[in-house]
Amino acid sequence: MIPESVRTLRHGDAATRRHEDTPTRRHGDGATRRQDDWRLSKLERLWPTFWELSQVALVVLGIVCLSASVAAQTKKKTPRKSQTTLDSRMAKAKADLVSAANDYKESLQKLLVFEEDDFKLATATLEKRKALLSQNIISKKEVEESERALATAQSKVDDTKKQIGESDNLIAEASGERQLEKLGKSRVGAYQVTAALIRYNGPAHWVLSDASKVESFFTSRFKHALPISAFGQTAVHDHLGFDHHNAMDVALSPDSTEGKALMDYLRGQGIPFIAFHYAVPGSATGAHIHVGYPSKRVSK
Ligand SMILES: [Zn+2]
Repeated sequence: MIPESVRTLRHGDAATRRHEDTPTRRHGDGATRRQDDWRLSKLERLWPTFWELSQVALVVLGIVCLSASVAAQTKKKTPRKSQTTLDSRMAKAKADLVSAANDYKESLQKLLVFEEDDFKLATATLEKRKALLSQNIISKKEVEESERALATAQSKVDDTKKQIGESDNLIAEASGERQLEKLGKSRVGAYQVTAALIRYNGPAHWVLSDASKVESFFTSRFKHALPISAFGQTAVHDHLGFDHHNAMDVALSPDSTEGKALMDYLRGQGIPFIAFHYAVPGSATGAHIHVGYPSKRVSK
């Protein structure tokens, strides 16, 4: 229980208390009064005045308001921060794809060195065996075995060279994504040109099965087959996580006569395409015409 005197003091002001405190307590002669004074003095120290409480309340209120304000500002900034993070992740993903494609191409080039050695060896073996057959030292069957070995070696070399070409094209297409983004949203029918590429956003609804029309045009015009380097999805696209299902790559530079004729035909038909001048500025690799919509990265 808090004594009545204390209850009174708790609600009094500081000046009044100080006035009541001093002479009476120092000069009081009753034991009870001294005890009351001592308790009162102790409780006074323990119980803050209304003024002190109000000051504390103001400080607490201030801290709460400040915290709320900081929280609100943090909340407002969050979407911008998330967007920045997303943009940097996207940029990293693109850089990673180009880097992964370059690494893959490098490993294919190393493999090609071994395969070309095997091809040379198979060629030499076949020549030796043919000579031995002519001298009736070995059977025809052994020569045929060497011919098959040579064909296999040739096929491996061709396949690896093809994959190196596909890697170059993929590097051009992945690098071109950044340029396409800079061009902004492409309206239907737009024809856009940058240093690295030409994009035509044709209105025709392109499906890969329409490729036969393109091939027919090209063969009738140039009397040889359309040099298709990638028809739809290839092993290289799968390996590097690139969706190329509904597109066809033609191994023609947009600067060549045949490349220009092909682009004119595609525009005339409203067929969308992207023509790449190179994979890396200053290099001839990666030049090709991608027929169809831009390829997209597949999230792994
Ligand atoms: Zn392509």
